[in-house]
Amino acid sequence: MEKIAFYDARSYDRLYFDALAPKAGLELTYLENKLTPQTAVLARGCAGVCAFVNDDLGTETLQELAGVGVRCAALRCAGFNNVDLTAAERCGIRVFRVPAYSPEAVAEHALALLLTLTRQTHRAFTRTRERNFSLEGLVGTNLAGKTVGVVGTGKVGARFAAAVRALGTTVLAYDVRPQWGAGLAYVPLPELIRRSDVISLHCPLTPETYHMLSRAAFHDMKRGVILINTSRGALIDSEALLDNVKSGKVGAAGLDVYEEEADVFYEDVSAKVMRDDTLNLLLSQPNVLVTSHQAFLTNEALQAIAETTVQNLRLFFSGDPVENELRPTAAPAGV
Ligand code: NAD
Repeated sequence: MEKIAFYDARSYDRLYFDALAPKAGLELTYLENKLTPQTAVLARGCAGVCAFVNDDLGTETLQELAGVGVRCAALRCAGFNNVDLTAAERCGIRVFRVPAYSPEAVAEHALALLLTLTRQTHRAFTRTRERNFSLEGLVGTNLAGKTVGVVGTGKVGARFAAAVRALGTTVLAYDVRPQWGAGLAYVPLPELIRRSDVISLHCPLTPETYHMLSRAAFHDMKRGVILINTSRGALIDSEALLDNVKSGKVGAAGLDVYEEEADVFYEDVSAKVMRDDTLNLLLSQPNVLVTSHQAFLTNEALQAIAETTVQNLRLFFSGDPVENELRPTAAPAGV
């Protein structure tokens, strides 16, 4: 059996991995800790680690992992902005990921955030539980007839675009690699930002996309614009977002990701003082809906994640090529 230290483990991970790992010759040690330079030592005696979106696979962590004998890192996610692939290669650690598990899950969550905000069902839910059946302040907005800007038209963005188009919206799209022939109206990003009533982000976090929605971009948006972000938090300048929510320029925001999420998302910090004032103030607004990076969290996605991760590890340990391996030079651009 090959031993794997499974970081940031949750009960829903165990459910799916326990059913598959032993048959693939893997012995998983589940750790609640996130992977950091300090916790890397917990992988001593393991041939590999399994990591998730907020685990740190920077140079320091990778050096620590190599020092305790780790030879591979299996990411159980698609994005790999948290991995220094050059350092991994230098340390002799091979890195795998799950390029696609359920784009439907993420697209449907983006749609759920959008429809919740346009119809204020999050507020209606708390009201009616308190036996408050007043409709004051719950006037919504039809999506039909509105313009929705979709940034990034890959697996998730294309599905989200199809879903909102089915609701009678006009979709504007922006992508550095447009899918010509997919029936989407591509426009330059500044035009999308200027014309959209809703902007939904579906592109990866890269040095180019960091703070793509900057203070200047907010300036150019329509008053009352609705923002949806299920991609990565740092695509949006959060302080600029907060200022624009406060001024009313942003009509509503649905955020499944947040640029400083690593310390709080996936944790119960309800009994602790939260020091991040930007997040505190965003959470306090009635028109901001935050979910804890859960867009991927469906049974179907968890099953697919476990299957591909276990398969990646099985192929690696049997010496076969791993199709989902990430290399510094061959990394798919912009994921
Ligand atoms: P994908 O690779 O299929 O599509 C990404 C698209 O973004 C591609 O078409 C690519 O050309 C485009 N792109 C790259 N750089 C760009 C840029 N600078 N400007 C505009 N477009 C650019 O990825 P996907 O499966 O559709 O996933 C999209 C994103 O969703 C991922 O990058 C990831 O960050 C995020 N994600 C979030 C969750 C979650 O639980 N919240 C789960 C999975 C994925």
